[in-house]
Amino acid sequence: MNPPGDIMAYWYTCMTIMVFALGACIGSFLNVCIYRIPREESIVHPRSHCPACNTLIPWYWNIPLLSWILLRGKCRFCKAPITPRYLIVETITAVLFVLIWLKLDWIGNPLLGLTPMHNAGLVPVYWLVMSGLILGTFVDFEHLIIPDRVTLGGIAAGLVLSPLVPALHGVTGPLESFLKALLGAAAGWGLLWGISWFGRLLFRKEAMGFGDVKLIGAIGAFLGWRAVLFTVAVSSLIGSIVGLVLVFTGRKAMQSRIPYGPYLALAAILWILWGTQWWDAYIRFMMPEPELPAGPVQWTIPYNP
Ligand SMILES: [Zn+2]
Repeated sequence: MNPPGDIMAYWYTCMTIMVFALGACIGSFLNVCIYRIPREESIVHPRSHCPACNTLIPWYWNIPLLSWILLRGKCRFCKAPITPRYLIVETITAVLFVLIWLKLDWIGNPLLGLTPMHNAGLVPVYWLVMSGLILGTFVDFEHLIIPDRVTLGGIAAGLVLSPLVPALHGVTGPLESFLKALLGAAAGWGLLWGISWFGRLLFRKEAMGFGDVKLIGAIGAFLGWRAVLFTVAVSSLIGSIVGLVLVFTGRKAMQSRIPYGPYLALAAILWILWGTQWWDAYIRFMMPEPELPAGPVQWTIPYNP
């Protein structure tokens, strides 16, 4: 028995449950934004109402996750189906909030091979980034646009928050962090703008929306230039595989437009959770360090238990 350890484990479990609940609530708010921002409605007023029968939804039927499950995805009043997107967004947000929280190395052993982080200030910043990426993804799925509030707002937020939380770019000085954010945004914007310009030249049609260019700019401002390279490479890989599967299974024609924003968002999320580790492994694989020549002197004494 180790009482302090038990107390820590208890506290840790409670906090994790609270983080999950917070994520579900933020997911619920994101659902409102996903519905209202593309329709240019206010996100605070009026209160939630059923889009089919217009009945105001009382708070006890508006509880994240639980309400949708208890109502089995139907309006309590008119029985109109409620899109499963509500449940999906709330679940994804809650799970991602917990994964960010679990990245903190001083809380416990990082699970799932998450890249450990030490600075607690990163937690709310990453939560914000995750929320923006989820919002952009689901609006892009439904409307094939990514709102400027996510992309340009994201670039501005990244440039403002980087000097406040320099750990975001792995540095200690605010100015250095700001410059890295600027470099990241410029690298992202420049790279995708270049690719889209080249694509237009090659295919004589719009290969990529400008929203995607602005989105990778925001990703770069928060996560730096390495994240930009990773995100562009991984998103095109996943996007090509999914695109080919959709074409071969007859769900999409070769020429149809597939939103690219969700793949950028997915790759950026992978970067936040595991990216730097994968990056280091890749660099080691491409540029192995020269092995030290075997010398006659043995510096370490072999330990025999
Ligand atoms: Zn209704």
